Amino acid sequence: MSIVYGPVPSWRLGRSLGVDPVSTRGKTCSFNCVYCQLGPTRHPLTKRRIFVEPEALAAELERVKQKGIELDYITFSGIGEPTLASNLAELVQVVRRIFPHHPIAILTNSSLFPLAEVRRDLAGFDLIAAKVDAPDEGSFKAINRPFVPFTLAEIIEGIKRLRDEFTGKLALQMMFIPQNKDRAADMARIARSIGPDEIQLNTPLRPSPVQPLTPEEMAQIEAAFQGLPYINVYRASRPTVQPLDTAEMRRRRPE
Ligand code: SF4
Repeated sequence: MSIVYGPVPSWRLGRSLGVDPVSTRGKTCSFNCVYCQLGPTRHPLTKRRIFVEPEALAAELERVKQKGIELDYITFSGIGEPTLASNLAELVQVVRRIFPHHPIAILTNSSLFPLAEVRRDLAGFDLIAAKVDAPDEGSFKAINRPFVPFTLAEIIEGIKRLRDEFTGKLALQMMFIPQNKDRAADMARIARSIGPDEIQLNTPLRPSPVQPLTPEEMAQIEAAFQGLPYINVYRASRPTVQPLDTAEMRRRRPE
């Protein structure tokens, strides 16, 4: 299988079956985050296109379904930014048809949220986890190293529009690293202005070019988020899962 991977033991989503709607050999992304566990962005891309045909996804999902494995979520993620797939809405429908009783999530870097067509394509998900790592434009350029032409303010405005339009659960993913660890109050202010259902306070615990923050440093960050619905990666539990294809999973989640 080359599109579907896992299930992975996700601290946010439990037993999560991955769907990679980009599925290129190297990373295809609209960002080149300094902490990215997948290494440098091999294929910088800002224009959406089709990478995966719905029939190919359906065939892989049918094979997984026959195995009858226990799943909590089916999650669009993988080796790049999933909203770059211009047939995203169609691919979600394929998952919904084959797994009608499972919630469907997407982990996205939010970079294309200023585009109405992207927000429209996201309407079919049950949970959207949208990345915000930077409190200002300078930090955004330094941490996420974007290829998209949008500013951080435009992206945050896009998330707020999505908040108004979307009826499912909206989570914010916030990655804390040495570059932004002293800006937790500013990050919490951004979170308050968006009003998500959940805030995922993260630091890179899997192999990354950047050192993770310590549990004590993350506890200090938590303090700025008091009163908000946050979860902290250090306090989360992970289920035990058996991946269907370890090599395909490692390609997206190196250990
Ligand atoms: S958005 Fe995700 S996949 Fe893209 S560079 Fe950043 S961490 Fe890596």
